[in-house]
Amino acid sequence: MKAKPIIDTFEKYGYEAYFVGGAVRDYLLGEPIGDIDIATNATPTETLSIFEKTVPVGIEHGTVLVLHGNEGYEVTTYRVESDYSDFRRPESVTFVRSLTEDLARRDFTINAIAMHPSEQLIDPFNGQADLHNQLISTVGLAEERFSEDALRMMRAVRFCSQLDFTVTETVKQAIKTYHHLLQNIAVERIQVEWFKLFAGKNVKQGLDMLLETKMYESLPLLKDEHNVIQRLSDHVKSSIKHPEVVLALLSLLSDSWTLSDWVKAYRCSNQQKREANELVKAFKIYQINGITNQLLYQLGRNRFSQFLELLQQFEFYEWSLKGLESMYNQLPIHSRKDMAIEGNQLLNLRPDKQKGPWIGEYLQLIERMILSGELLNQYEAIERQVKQWKTQEND
Ligand code: ATP
Ligand code: MG
Repeated sequence: MKAKPIIDTFEKYGYEAYFVGGAVRDYLLGEPIGDIDIATNATPTETLSIFEKTVPVGIEHGTVLVLHGNEGYEVTTYRVESDYSDFRRPESVTFVRSLTEDLARRDFTINAIAMHPSEQLIDPFNGQADLHNQLISTVGLAEERFSEDALRMMRAVRFCSQLDFTVTETVKQAIKTYHHLLQNIAVERIQVEWFKLFAGKNVKQGLDMLLETKMYESLPLLKDEHNVIQRLSDHVKSSIKHPEVVLALLSLLSDSWTLSDWVKAYRCSNQQKREANELVKAFKIYQINGITNQLLYQLGRNRFSQFLELLQQFEFYEWSLKGLESMYNQLPIHSRKDMAIEGNQLLNLRPDKQKGPWIGEYLQLIERMILSGELLNQYEAIERQVKQWKTQEND
């Protein structure tokens, strides 16, 4: 356990500190561990004073990043959240001295287990039983916890997919009643959970939960889109780690909204939009022609794993990353720079023509012919071709 020395240091100075949250849950499940979070009874100022390398990332929420080895660990002072207003984040946080109070503010029992490096567990809400039964249940009353912070409903569904768990009947009923409160939540927070849902182990389970509780009605752009969620649920065959692939899939499966609509509604970046757009274009070419040199060239090596993820959702399993890469390596050119001719050389070959858009069109045509194998990527061969076009034009 790489973060043990941090806990040791706290204890050396007379404080308590425990691993908490997702890392403990995933450790107990035998899953790969993501970020490690630590909770302590030391105040942020005390934490800053006992560690050499720290970053005060969120002092007002009690969070300090402690750097150790090459990694940063989020250390948060035991706290409770109070004064929830309009179902969003709490107005203020209050530091408390007891671990149990801190665990009580957490969303689900499986996320409210603390662990000491000695592997001793502090589990006041029986999270271990829910881990064992693969159940998502809230700490305290679901209705209360969801009306305090509506994002928790989205998190519940996300965990169904991520962990391949189900929600308890009580949680399901509460989501049915309260999902409309999600409309008050910042889209950026919803977006995080939305993409984590698609990256999970059992995406279909998460999507079916959206349908069953009708929670999709409270998500951006999905109010009247029962069909889209149903189609997603029918299509998604494996977890989708890349948000761009989710965007591409959404735009391919939806009749009412374009890629731009999805990008805007979920506040995605321009980069994600560009990549999703390339994927959609490539997918449409693939449906007609299969894998061609032109398609590999247009996509580029860096997008192959995304493209494969998209193909899999449509049950095209015949390609592997290695396969695509080796075909790609054999392409005669990998970019315009590799072409044995440039714009000015074309101009020299056609002294009868003025500079103009024809140059770009010729280059594109030559590029295509080189990729399809109709033309060798050699200056002399291209020169011959250009001269032939000239005679044809003059005939
Ligand atoms: P993962 O990191 O796998 O996405 P996680 O459970 O670690 O899952 P985080 O968003 O990193 O999720 O939050 C860390 C911990 O903080 C959670 O395990 C939970 O205890 C608590 N938590 C996070 N969001 C909320 C929330 N909206 N309400 C209450 N507790 C929360
Ligand atoms: Mg986490």
